[in-house]
Amino acid sequence: MTAPTNPDTASIRVRIAPSPTGDPHVGTAYIGLLNFLYARQRGGKFVLRIEDTDRARFVSTSEQMIFDALRWLGLEWDEGPDVGGPFGPYRQSERTEIYRTHVDLLLASDHAYRSFETPEELDAMRRSQIAAKLPPRYNGAHRELTPAQIAAFEAEGRPSVVRLKVPVEGETSFRDELRGAIIFSHNNVDDQVLLKSDGFPTYHLANVVDDHLMQITDVIRAEEWISSTPKHVLLYKAFGWPLPRFWHMPLLRNLDKSKISKRKNPVSLIYYRESGFLPQAMLNFLGLMGGGMAQPTEQEIVSKGISVKQGDIFSLAEMLEKFDFQRISLGGPVFDLTKLKWLNGEYLRALTPDAFFQALRATLFSDDRLRRIAPLVQTRIETLAQFGEMTHFFFKDDVMPPPEVFLPKNRSLEETLAFAAEQLALLEATSFTVGELDSALKKLGAEKEWSVKDNFMLLRAILTGKTASPPLLESLIVFGKARALDRLRRFLDHQKRLANTRK
Ligand code: GLU
Repeated sequence: MTAPTNPDTASIRVRIAPSPTGDPHVGTAYIGLLNFLYARQRGGKFVLRIEDTDRARFVSTSEQMIFDALRWLGLEWDEGPDVGGPFGPYRQSERTEIYRTHVDLLLASDHAYRSFETPEELDAMRRSQIAAKLPPRYNGAHRELTPAQIAAFEAEGRPSVVRLKVPVEGETSFRDELRGAIIFSHNNVDDQVLLKSDGFPTYHLANVVDDHLMQITDVIRAEEWISSTPKHVLLYKAFGWPLPRFWHMPLLRNLDKSKISKRKNPVSLIYYRESGFLPQAMLNFLGLMGGGMAQPTEQEIVSKGISVKQGDIFSLAEMLEKFDFQRISLGGPVFDLTKLKWLNGEYLRALTPDAFFQALRATLFSDDRLRRIAPLVQTRIETLAQFGEMTHFFFKDDVMPPPEVFLPKNRSLEETLAFAAEQLALLEATSFTVGELDSALKKLGAEKEWSVKDNFMLLRAILTGKTASPPLLESLIVFGKARALDRLRRFLDHQKRLANTRK
């Protein structure tokens, strides 16, 4: 059967629920924009909830970066951890009691059960299923434990998780506002863990409990969550709650149509802000993604490799007026950096000279940045004019050192590029402080038998395009992690392309 949809449309409430696991993602801004438009067009509320229950992936600086990035774009929320609101707290780690009470309700009504397998047992289960060419999933062994069996496991001191008791037969269906009815056979729905052994809920439980308690009417999120939705629907039903409307938005794609990834595109909003993209250009670009602004009659012109339509340029105010959720098309929108750059150029040209000057002063030439760069060069120059020479790499978008600059003596191109790829992976995982960068890089060098000199020189060459520069680690920090990672990736991509042309 199809579960009924929440009939109350009078007071629309929507939310975004990012997880603070790293830099704020362009996907969060895309879904944020759609939720913002949906709420503002209907006089509703736009809620920001922080889903920080995955303690293993939690990054403490991430939440503030999410706030800053959304504010940079002008997507203000009505309720959230920092602004409060009537349905708080809005940070899931502060709501663990609420989830535990709800898990108890599910246990009492036999919609959930405790399962005591050790990680080794679960691993063995997964392996035997893979060997038998079956999809790996929980085999249901502890679905019907007797109180005595439970007591015995507890006496052993075994930790347990709580799982959703998915009905063995039948199917769950729900309506997706963009796709119509979606049906999942229960054969394909795993007995999802709801409460982990550390006492924290999983995404599925916390998300449903909060959406209900926060009176969310419309869940507008990326389509990658469709396969989780039957679990959510089963939870709503188990609690006896009405369903919200579900809208699953097409995923942003790389040019080759794969799901957007940092391997192919910068995905950190910090990167875009710090590389001098204007927030209004970014919003416009994200507004193009769903197709909600598309005018069906418009001609597409292909100009310099990008397809452009007359109606491609619009402001947030125009989106509020014209964006139509019914017009959203499901074909994966392509996150085409060339098009974003073209749009940004259009916005830059449209600024008044004073606004353009202000944009430079707010980003590349902000007091804050100059104040951080100045001490790196003060002791290294004889005239102020040499400042430019010393610091050009901070202000350039691209530096592509030739092999004579980046290749150490006695190292082949191949091993050097392999080491640079290791440096990239390491920088990704390291927080940008002098101490951490220094020890992480030296550890990597020791492991791979690269001298400190060659190790640092390679990174210096990629970052600055030269063999001499202000102190490397301090420069990396001021340059910023998001842009530094992008610079390394672009260097490696460029070298890969060169290698392909040589073949
Ligand atoms: N925490 C999930 C995320 O990081 C939220 C998904 C949803 O909107 O339900 O995207």
